[in-house]
Amino acid sequence: MSRASYRKFPLRVCRRTALSPGFVRITLHGESVAGMATYAPDQRVKLFFPLADGTLPALPDGDDWYAAYRAMPAAIRPPMRTYTIRALRAAQREVDVDFVLHGDGGPASAWAMRAGIGDGLVMLAPDAGFDGTPDGFEWRPPSGLRRVLLIGDETAVPAIAGILEHLADTPEPPRVVALLEVPRATDRLDLRAPASAALHWLPRDGAPHGARLQAALHRLMPAHHATDAEAARLEIDLDSEILWERSAAGDHGFHAWIACESAAAMAMRRHLIGALDIDRRAVACMGYWRLGRALD
Ligand SMILES: Cc1cc2nc3c(=O)[nH]c(=O)nc-3n(C[C@H](O)[C@H](O)[C@H](O)COP(=O)(O)OP(=O)(O)OC[C@H]3O[C@@H](n4cnc5c(N)ncnc54)[C@H](O)[C@@H]3O)c2cc1C
Repeated sequence: MSRASYRKFPLRVCRRTALSPGFVRITLHGESVAGMATYAPDQRVKLFFPLADGTLPALPDGDDWYAAYRAMPAAIRPPMRTYTIRALRAAQREVDVDFVLHGDGGPASAWAMRAGIGDGLVMLAPDAGFDGTPDGFEWRPPSGLRRVLLIGDETAVPAIAGILEHLADTPEPPRVVALLEVPRATDRLDLRAPASAALHWLPRDGAPHGARLQAALHRLMPAHHATDAEAARLEIDLDSEILWERSAAGDHGFHAWIACESAAAMAMRRHLIGALDIDRRAVACMGYWRLGRALD
């Protein structure tokens, strides 16, 4: 039988590192991490959190795990949320996940606020033994990249931090502009980036989610003309669908990677494609979360 690309890793908290008032890095340990892989700085994983009584029921595995998970009775189905591998140290059996602390309103944030050494969860992550085409990431810049625009709110800061580190290690990095919206000025993190990169930290300070990002994008790249009808046709109903637009290979030179609250992400995609005539294949645009809803 061929191996699935992702598999379950039972993990325990071995370290908590406060990065800022709004971010905590949780380092997870497990013997099986020796067989975990990560392929890109925005590698996504699924985390399964314990039920209210602290137990974590057996979870389905294999390629059809999602259908089996959805079929579990609600009372014993553990909450599942999507996160980013911030760093993997397979030799030390450790993996870091940076959690945004947005309060008690969701199981993931509530868990991260309280998680102590020894607490357990299960991560569904890439299996290093898989020999097919790796997947589960959207950082796929074209060759001949000259200009990069990274846009994200705090949920995408872990991925953008990894992308900037990757670019910093590139011999001739492209010109990079990053727009990073965070809850408060004190959530600004010290990131390693190419020397020429321009990082714009945008404290939200109570403004609507994504508003500071949109204003910064409009200042950086003012519209050429009113949004055209073709861009409007690309829009989706965010209440019934998840915004997930991959970029595609091509000789674009310019590459945009956007991940934040879904409505804000869609508005910025509209601006780039519909009012600036940027080739949509040069834009990866992901709704990482949806205001007022839980996405699993
Ligand atoms: C590919 C991918 C990678 C991601 N990587 C990370 C990561 O590395 N770190 C990280 O912290 N998040 C990350 N996220 C976002 C994370 O999955 C969501 O924020 C998720 O909703 C958190 O789950 P929860 O249980 O805390 O809240 P939920 O139960 O999902 O939501 C409860 C309520 O809180 C709201 N809410 C959810 N997230 C936020 C937020 N950040 N701020 C304010 N309100 C919110 C929802 O709209 C809802 O009303 C990623 C998402 C995707 C799709």
